[in-house]
Amino acid sequence: MTNVTETLRTELRALLGAEHVIESGDSLETLSKDYYWYSPVLKRQLDDKRADLVARPGTIEELRQVIAACFQAGVPIVPRGAGTGNYGQCVPIYGGVVIDLARLDKIHSVAGGVVHAEAGARLGTIETVARAAGWELRCLPSTWMKSSLGGFFCGGSGGIGSITWGGINANDNVKSVTIMTCEAEPKLIRLEERDSLKALHAYGTTGFMVEIEMRLAPKVDYDQLIFSAADWDTLLTWTDGAARNGEWSKRLVTQFQWPTPSFFKPLVKYFKPGEHVSFLLVAREQADAVIAAATAAGLACVYRQPLSDPPKPPFITDFTWNHTTLWAMKTDPSITYLQAGFATNFREQFAELHRRFPGEILLHLEWVAGSPKMMRGGANGAGELPSGITVGGIPLIYFKTEERLNEILRACAELGVGIANPHTYRLEEGGRHPNIADKRAFKSEVDPRGLLNPGKMKSYPHNPFDSVESAAAAAALAAGPA
Ligand SMILES: Cc1cc2nc3c(=O)[nH]c(=O)nc-3n(C[C@H](O)[C@H](O)[C@H](O)COP(=O)(O)OP(=O)(O)OC[C@H]3O[C@@H](n4cnc5c(N)ncnc54)[C@H](O)[C@@H]3O)c2cc1C
Repeated sequence: MTNVTETLRTELRALLGAEHVIESGDSLETLSKDYYWYSPVLKRQLDDKRADLVARPGTIEELRQVIAACFQAGVPIVPRGAGTGNYGQCVPIYGGVVIDLARLDKIHSVAGGVVHAEAGARLGTIETVARAAGWELRCLPSTWMKSSLGGFFCGGSGGIGSITWGGINANDNVKSVTIMTCEAEPKLIRLEERDSLKALHAYGTTGFMVEIEMRLAPKVDYDQLIFSAADWDTLLTWTDGAARNGEWSKRLVTQFQWPTPSFFKPLVKYFKPGEHVSFLLVAREQADAVIAAATAAGLACVYRQPLSDPPKPPFITDFTWNHTTLWAMKTDPSITYLQAGFATNFREQFAELHRRFPGEILLHLEWVAGSPKMMRGGANGAGELPSGITVGGIPLIYFKTEERLNEILRACAELGVGIANPHTYRLEEGGRHPNIADKRAFKSEVDPRGLLNPGKMKSYPHNPFDSVESAAAAAALAAGPA
């Protein structure tokens, strides 16, 4: 399915050096993929998708020249950070050129509570540098050691720290983003504050993020705590109270339904079979008080470890957020997942889901500081979620068939459970896009030919690759199962 001519290949080799143009082999395969295989639906749809080549610019000027050459050639262009996305966000549906931004990783400054870095900088490196200067990232995905700032901005949503600071789109977490357009002569555009949201979580369809400024939080020294209880409701009541406790400084509040803890092989020795567990990161000077409160409520504290500074394992966060799904799939590859936002009647929602789908859903809850509209506008049409602290999560699903998965999604919609659907690579179907019209309008400004990550923004009217040799593949994708 090659879109890439020998002329373009030669031009890119001359620009970057042959060592930074990957045209075959395992590296081409790896750099064409992310973690889409978490979803059996995406696995079927995306397994055979590959880039024709991967270009690895080392400077912003090289990036500009690569984009200009690809624009001239009219090929699909897909930005890539570390490739840890879960929805095939950086999988090139129509082939073409993947531009790997890993070499654009300068951290310009950490000052005045703001980090200013190139998009390819790893979040783990940023966190380490920020902590050394007395700060920490406000929110970061559980893949923080590996994933990039630009990839988090364009493909992520929140995670560790979101219990206090909300998702990446919340508050004033993003200060600015500098974007390179996809035109004959690519130029830089700077978006500030809330204006930057029109490029956020857009899967790289709205230009190349080259530099980002994120606001930081004052550094806290944390203890990592795990509590366990045989009774789900006892644990839930205490954990929910801990999440809403405004006195305790927290970076993580997570609860898992048994047997999920049994999937965490390195930790399983701390758990009692059959017991549900909660994971918390709390300020070290408050940890004794938190443990005392939990014990008084009938919970057992089964694990306590300071979080190292500078960051060094063990990290209990390696089992939370979407790492939970990874551990579960290692034990049982038939497991998949949903991304849910529960309403104030979350207890009834859990009970009803378990009643309708007995033995098929394992609850994995993550508490976050509200960004109530985050999951509106998805295919499932969930209503308004509560503000303040909300109960979200990434429930595990024992996958049976796509039809059964869709039944669960429909039930969530009926019950008012907000879903950011992880079983689609199309932005609009995934949810989290109340501002899709702004994103589409911005895309027409920065990507007039529709070359950037084509197929991902379904409602963008101009996809030049639908009418070329890959039209059959696109039709097959749209039609669903063969
Ligand atoms: C085990 C596991 C756990 C995870 N946990 C979390 C979590 O807690 N929270 C969370 O939000 N996500 C989570 N994720 C998803 C993912 O790891 C994060 O969103 C991560 O921040 C993505 O960064 P990346 O560098 O790997 O991005 P990539 O996967 O490389 O890219 C993501 C998207 O952004 C685009 N992109 C990347 N860089 C740029 C750029 N500079 N300019 C324009 N577009 C760009 C790509 O085209 C793609 O569409 C998890 C994934 C896994 C596999």
